[in-house]
Amino acid sequence: MGILSELIKGLRVTGGIMIRTIAGNELVTTEYPKEMRVKPQRFHGRHVLNRYPDGMEKCIGCELCAGACPAQCIYVRGEDNDPDNPKSPGERFGYVYEINMLRCIFCGLCVEACPTEAITMTHLFEFSTTNREDAIYTKETLLMDRRGSVPHMFPDDELVDLDELDSADGWVRATAPSGVAAYQGIEMWQGTPGPGDWSPEPTQEERDRLSRDRTSDG
Ligand code: SF4
Ligand code: SF4
Repeated sequence: MGILSELIKGLRVTGGIMIRTIAGNELVTTEYPKEMRVKPQRFHGRHVLNRYPDGMEKCIGCELCAGACPAQCIYVRGEDNDPDNPKSPGERFGYVYEINMLRCIFCGLCVEACPTEAITMTHLFEFSTTNREDAIYTKETLLMDRRGSVPHMFPDDELVDLDELDSADGWVRATAPSGVAAYQGIEMWQGTPGPGDWSPEPTQEERDRLSRDRTSDG
């Protein structure tokens, strides 16, 4: 009798979840790729090389990211800026910048190492290629355009959703000790790619309110 009642109890739980799922309230699947799940704020996706608001490249070709990379998948070469037409505010700029995405383990250490926040990671995660060569992202692919949008490896591909690039959230900044009260209101994050808009992190109260709003909407 004990086993039977436990079985019925278990079936009630399973049945309840099944009914709620069928009714659509607790669906956990999404129709990828038509529909994308919202990724965690600190999701480590493909890299991007940033610019300053005036269009200058942030990378100064110092190679610290390459030195920090445990997978040794970054190759950088710096070159002196032309004083009359500098590419970056420093003496040097990143002349060659490559990341071999087949080796990358998306640890984010390159982001941590970068002194100018030139290299950051987005929420973009679709990397499939048909040959190994295309998995090596060059500066041309990594450097954001002057509107602040991330370039796409294959813009002509009919499956590509270029709009996604404009909202590739998750501008992971090097030092973002989220949750430390002392950092509230200090510019730490940028929600979407763009060269200049570094809005402050929301306060804990704002986060709580947003979380409550999301829960009540859902
Ligand atoms: S995320 Fe990690 S493995 Fe990938 S390029 Fe950066 S440091 Fe290297
Ligand atoms: S991305 Fe940052 S760490 Fe890497 S070479 Fe450029 S400035 Fe240096």
